[in-house]
Amino acid sequence: MFIEDILEADGITLLKWKHLIKERNLNTQGRIPQWFKNIETKLLEDKEGTTRKIKNEYISITQKRKININYFDENEKTNKNQIITWCETDESLIFVEDKKKSFSKKYKRLGRHLITIGNKDDLNNSPNLIGCEGCHRNVSKKKDNGECLIYIENEISRKIEKRKEEDFIRPYETLNNILTKNIWLRNTINEEKKDTLYNKRIEMIDNTIKASEEFINIIKNSIFERKESDFGKDRFFLIIEVKKNKTKIDDKGKRKYYYNIIWKIRSENVNNNNNELQIIAKHESIYDNEYKIILRSIILGLLIIAENSELILEINDRVKNLIYDFNNKCSNRRKIDSEYYLELLFIEDFLENNEIDMLDANEVTTNCLKEIRKTSREFLDFKIFDDTRIDDFELIDEALIINEFNVIWNNRIISGGYRAWRKKITNAIWKNEILNSEKLDDLFVYNYKKEFDWVTTLEFIKLKIS
Ligand SMILES: [Zn+2]
Ligand SMILES: [Zn+2]
Repeated sequence: MFIEDILEADGITLLKWKHLIKERNLNTQGRIPQWFKNIETKLLEDKEGTTRKIKNEYISITQKRKININYFDENEKTNKNQIITWCETDESLIFVEDKKKSFSKKYKRLGRHLITIGNKDDLNNSPNLIGCEGCHRNVSKKKDNGECLIYIENEISRKIEKRKEEDFIRPYETLNNILTKNIWLRNTINEEKKDTLYNKRIEMIDNTIKASEEFINIIKNSIFERKESDFGKDRFFLIIEVKKNKTKIDDKGKRKYYYNIIWKIRSENVNNNNNELQIIAKHESIYDNEYKIILRSIILGLLIIAENSELILEINDRVKNLIYDFNNKCSNRRKIDSEYYLELLFIEDFLENNEIDMLDANEVTTNCLKEIRKTSREFLDFKIFDDTRIDDFELIDEALIINEFNVIWNNRIISGGYRAWRKKITNAIWKNEILNSEKLDDLFVYNYKKEFDWVTTLEFIKLKIS
């Protein structure tokens, strides 16, 4: 056993004997053994033992390498002798007793909320906990039965052994140790999460953007990382302007269209251009289609902004409407034969997966954004930059395909997904009706996302018959 094994997570406080036993899961009854008392005499600075800080001379040699955490797992049953604890963003402590299944999408378990009573700042002792009788966290349907039920955080929470003592519940850890461990756990999990998300973005950029290495590096270095704050989501303003330049006939006699694109990304305050990110690129295409270029430029912008954020777009109004119409699921314009289907579906999917809310700006902000886009336009018009020196940017079509059904877009309709769907409908009592439908493909298209929705299908057939 090393010194660090008998210290609290802060690396400077000696564990109490009982707490050590519980942390190490040892099954020892009875009094404190003499060897532990000897260690206490040797290490503790305060002979009275009110604070359990070890002498400075021992601190230097104890690098806390491993912190003992008994992770909570919402899929596993919690022991009756344990409570669950975690830290909020503001480092306030939460304690609960695992109670029952939750029907929330995000949390699997509900717990009985416990609160501290008595001296709330006594770091050297275990806190005294009692059941909360109801607070703003209470999600119980019955609000007035004197019990507070709250959602249990999964990743950042852990279990501590507890004991029942007269009217309180007491965890086998000092408040100091609980705080140190919970904060450490929260920070570690958040760092890991950030790293994973960041790596995912990098991979996506590599898979999606076709450009020079320098340009791709600029994009990668521009990724905004999510901040952890209590003040809601980060807000981003994405301004895109595309200008079509002269067309040229290439060597093979094909007409080519040349575009210049400018991106501006601001965060938090639209008026603050100090942290504005600006990217310029060119794009050549055999298509005379500015909207498509704008949509693809939005995708590049999305790859940069942080997840779990709010986004305000300043782009060509008609393209903006295209996105709104598409994302509005009731709209009959949500057609797979849309020229922009691939881009629109990717954008919708990306926003959803990354918890990015697209918002409308208020009037003042809108005016400000329009002004920024106007300036960007002038910048492109006056061509203050050297065209040959800016990078060419393209998106890789295959990377935009978000599910197997997308192949319809390329008119290659017989895919694995299609066959699976067809198999499913053979179970229908009126399968002939459907299979004989001339518009089988349409039927499939209408249902592709929900796999197979009988209600919609019945309506479809009703329409067809009448
Ligand atoms: Zn204790
Ligand atoms: Zn409560």
